[in-house]
Amino acid sequence: MQTTSEITPFVNEPFVDFSSEENASAFRAALEKTESSLPVIVRLHIDGEDCDGGAGTFESTDPSMVSRVVANSAKGNKEDALRAVAGAHKAFGEWSRRSAADRAEYLFKAARIMRLRKHEFSAMMVYEVGKSWAEADGDTAEAIDFLEFYAREALRWEREQPLTRIPGESNELHYIPLGVGAAIPPWNFPLAIMVGVAMAPIAAGNCMVLKPASDSPGIASMFIDLMKEVGLPAGVLQFVPGSGSDVGNLLVEHPQIRFINFTGSMEVGKGIYEKAGKTGEGQIWLKRVIAEMGGKDFMLIDEDADIDKAVQQTYAAAFGFQGQKCSACSRLILHESIHDQFMEKFLPLVEATTVGHPSEQKNFLAAMINESAMNDALKGIEEAKKAGNTLVAGGERASEEGWYLQPTVFTGVGRNDYIFQTELFAPVVAVHKVQSFEEGVEAANDTIFGLTGSYFGKDEDKIARAKIELHAGNLYINRKCTGALVGAHPFGGFNMSGTDSKAGSRDYLGLFLQAKLVSRANK
Ligand code: NAP
Ligand code: MG
Repeated sequence: MQTTSEITPFVNEPFVDFSSEENASAFRAALEKTESSLPVIVRLHIDGEDCDGGAGTFESTDPSMVSRVVANSAKGNKEDALRAVAGAHKAFGEWSRRSAADRAEYLFKAARIMRLRKHEFSAMMVYEVGKSWAEADGDTAEAIDFLEFYAREALRWEREQPLTRIPGESNELHYIPLGVGAAIPPWNFPLAIMVGVAMAPIAAGNCMVLKPASDSPGIASMFIDLMKEVGLPAGVLQFVPGSGSDVGNLLVEHPQIRFINFTGSMEVGKGIYEKAGKTGEGQIWLKRVIAEMGGKDFMLIDEDADIDKAVQQTYAAAFGFQGQKCSACSRLILHESIHDQFMEKFLPLVEATTVGHPSEQKNFLAAMINESAMNDALKGIEEAKKAGNTLVAGGERASEEGWYLQPTVFTGVGRNDYIFQTELFAPVVAVHKVQSFEEGVEAANDTIFGLTGSYFGKDEDKIARAKIELHAGNLYINRKCTGALVGAHPFGGFNMSGTDSKAGSRDYLGLFLQAKLVSRANK
């Protein structure tokens, strides 16, 4: 075990430079190795044992080549979930009393091994969810960051807490874990967010039942294998792949679940929040719900912005990973004086997008996650046409081999139009023209969400106003609205984007802890 004094300050895991041929060929080798091992077999993991699921099996397929099965997963049912909760309760007694240093060591060890095998984790995401090399590498780097960061945070939260000293007493405040939580992550950061929502509470001393997203059980099980390898005690992290409405819902309603750590859509998040509000039979607490939900994120480009930079950054934020990031730019708000100039530079970039299987380094855009996601996006495109928005790029499927959608741009979009208001989670950008800074701010804030946003401009007074007036949990100035780094950019949004939590922040572990005051009379 590392002693506390040997633990270096947290630094972000660097991204791999794929322009180096050495790195590129190492990644190609990992892709080949992964591809030849597909489909991977995924099993449940409960009380330290791999097992089959009561609901049979299900498959995850490569969205960019749908004939390829990536994972063949056991499917848990309600009984499996019940067993997992019961086992996690048993494990909690011992786990919750371990020192933070002891618990953190499992995370540090997992981070070290993941770093050594990072290409293998990334390669799996290329096939299972359609991430480009850089996007997959970013996901793995963030997972490593979460492990490293939350391990250090567990140590910090355990330290002596400052209290007002009064005569005649010795007072102490300790942060203790809550109990058994449900981790319900999305498929779009299938490693990073899954690791974050499950392992932060575990670092804090809780036990977790993890139900991975049904589109990404393969990468989830790679992480479970890693935690087995580092010897995490049985029952601390229970793994129950299965459907959201079945296994997920049972966990949410279970009276012995103390808290739910969810990241996903607003629709599902709202349902979870409501159901968790009911106190079940024998339940002796009110559940905590941490829900990180959707976004309809903006980039507001003012009249004095650096257009070339804004164009590049908008392109990356709108179309990186097919626009399937909660932070993706889907509302592009342009000052009228630069609107045409911006579009003249932006559209050629969009047209030049390389679309194809993400295992090939040259491809920037791969397929959307599944058929229904693609159909939702196509429906949004139809709504935009009906509303009279002007289609200036894309709008159609790009290949029948998978769920490919062309990078799509509509101009002339009004503030109340469907594609300006609804999260499509797709490579679709709605361009809205404004006459002034004030109108731009109003348009940017005209949303039920409040996750990320960017302001591009040079005037210091306007920047100062933008910082105050733009209402987004993650607001960026003169840079894109995607690409938050653990520790540097604590992440999470306002309003319908969630419960105002910040992943990768100093506050985060507190969401899974409760404070116990011990006051002792000196005589
Ligand atoms: P989703 O459909 O809401 O699913 C998220 C998770 O919830 C999955 O594990 C899903 O399981 C589960 N689930 C579904 N129905 C459930 C129910 N009734 N009870 C309990 N669990 C249930 O979201 P997604 O499609 O995976 O991810 C995309 C969404 O996530 C977007 O809206 C995006 O903006 C949001 N997101 C937000 C953040 C953030 O930090 N704010 C980050 C990433 C993504 P199944 O897979 O089995 O359905
Ligand atoms: Mg979904």
